[in-house]
This record gives sequence, structure tokens and C-alpha cells, in this order.
Amino acid sequence: MSSIQISDVTKTYRKKPTPALDHLTLEIGNGMFGLLGKNGAGKSTLMKILTTLEQPTSGTAEICGISLTQPQAIRNLIGYLPQNFAFYPNMRVSDALAYLATLANVSVRDQRRRIAQLLDDVNLTEKANAKVRQLSGGMLQRLGIAQALINNPQVLIVDEPTAGLDPEERIRFRNLLTDFSSNRTVLLSTHIVSDVEATTNQIGVLDHGQLLFTGTTNELMVTATGHVFEARIPLESAIQFKQTHQISEQVTQADQIHFRFIADSSDQKPTAPTLEEAYLYLQAQHEGVLS
Ligand code: ADP
Repeated sequence: MSSIQISDVTKTYRKKPTPALDHLTLEIGNGMFGLLGKNGAGKSTLMKILTTLEQPTSGTAEICGISLTQPQAIRNLIGYLPQNFAFYPNMRVSDALAYLATLANVSVRDQRRRIAQLLDDVNLTEKANAKVRQLSGGMLQRLGIAQALINNPQVLIVDEPTAGLDPEERIRFRNLLTDFSSNRTVLLSTHIVSDVEATTNQIGVLDHGQLLFTGTTNELMVTATGHVFEARIPLESAIQFKQTHQISEQVTQADQIHFRFIADSSDQKPTAPTLEEAYLYLQAQHEGVLS
């Protein structure tokens, strides 16, 4: 059985002519699933619907076989780290978690053990007595995961968790999510391709509320095979070349520029796509801007 089943979900906000989600159908199994898309693609909307904070305009969805029309049962099943996670800045880390544990009906008897375990899981034991406002961005995100896991959820939903983290913290955070996804479902949204590159096998690409692709990262790269090219162009022709090609990378080497670009076809040499290029190719193809 899939953990998350989304069937023909459309969400239209009031006063918006185009839907934020447009007849979306998607099945997500156990493990880590990366939802990739530009700002405004509809990622947060989907996550808010799955967490029952928003309701779909039409369509249905289930989490572990339970319909979203049963919000209390759904909330018992899921943990959620929203995009702009705000916490109680003046509380101590362990007190804030204890407060949330109480709200989540964790019995007082179990709270100490549960909080100690969570802090250990997210590597924050040393900060148990620190004030929340003293934590770095990365630590705050890890605390966000701890709070999302307080009710031991089957499904963890995290919205753009690496925004604002430095590269080292981003990698550490990704690894943490991978560990958690070994025996549950983690749905992670991001606009940063490298967030899904190393850790998630299954991805979905969302654009204007529509799913452009779903499958493995390798499968996405296969779709762009034969559509990424390399060319060395003299400096004096480089500006014109850039205007007429979809450039994915450029490196200046002495008196020429080494370009990588995406195109439907070219007389230049094809090269193996990176995941980032495969993502660009998919978007460009959808927008009809390729030559
Ligand atoms: P993402 O998370 O991928 O950046 P969102 O789900 O936040 O995308 O937004 C998708 C679209 O829905 C955007 O056009 C956005 O402006 C619109 N939108 C999101 N939330 C609201 C809201 N509460 N009211 C009106 N429009 C909204």
C-alpha cells in the first residue's frame, strides 16, 4: 500500500485565475520522496493540503489509507515542518519540546525519555538547556524535525527545509532526513536540485500545479540524454551564443568560453546530463523554449 495517495487534486485560491494545483495525481511509497519545483509551483499548497491545513477545491487524498476528510486521524499520523518554522524563542529547547509533547498527548511519564531520544536523534542533546533563540539556523531546523517527530509519525512532511542553511548544515540535515526515511515516509519539498540529488531516489517535479515528472533521479537524467551539449566559443562570439542558447554552465578558459547548454538538437557534441540539467531540460521543454 502506498503511504500517500493523491487523486486528481485541484486547489484554486480565491481571486487567483490559475489553480495552485491542477488535477494532481501522485502515489508516494515508503522512503524519501523529493518534490522539486520553482517558487510558486504549488509545493507548499500540496503540503498544506496533506497536513489538512488547507482543503482541496476538488479531488481526494489518503495517507496510510485514511482520507484527508478525517483531519484528526491524519494529524495523528503525520509530522510537519512548515516553511517558515517559528518556535518559542525564549523557552529552553527541552521545555519547548515538553510543551509540544503535552499538546500531542504524550503522557507525562513518557515525555522525558521521548524528548531525550529525539534530541539525541537530531544531535541536539548538548543544547537541551539552551534558549531556542541561541540556536543557529541549522540547529533550529533540526529542532523543527524533533518537534515534527514528537508523536512518532508514520509520515514526515518537510517544506523547503534547507533554505537559509549553509552548505555544511544542509548536508547534515539531508543525512538526518535520510536516516529517518528508512522506516517511514519523508516528503521533502525544495527548489534546490542538489537537495534531492544525493539522498532521494524518488522525485516529482511540479510546475504551475502540474506534475511534469515522477520517477527516480536516474530516470529523469535519462530523459535529457542527448539534449545536453558542449561547445568552446571564442570570447568575441560568446554574447551572441548566450542569447541563442539555453546555457546550463559556462567556464572561461583563456580566450574562449566553455559552455554547456540544453537543446532539443544541435550539431555540437552531446554530453551526459547532470540532474540539474535534466531538470532544466524538463522545464524548458514544458515551456516550449528549446531550439
Ligand atoms: P511553492 O511552495 O511551490 O512556492 P505555493 O504553493 O506557495 O508554491 O504557491 C502556488 C501558487 O498559489 C502561487 O501562485 C501562489 O501565489 C498561490 N498561493 C499560495 N498560497 C496562497 C493563498 N493563501 N492565497 C492566494 N494564493 C496563494
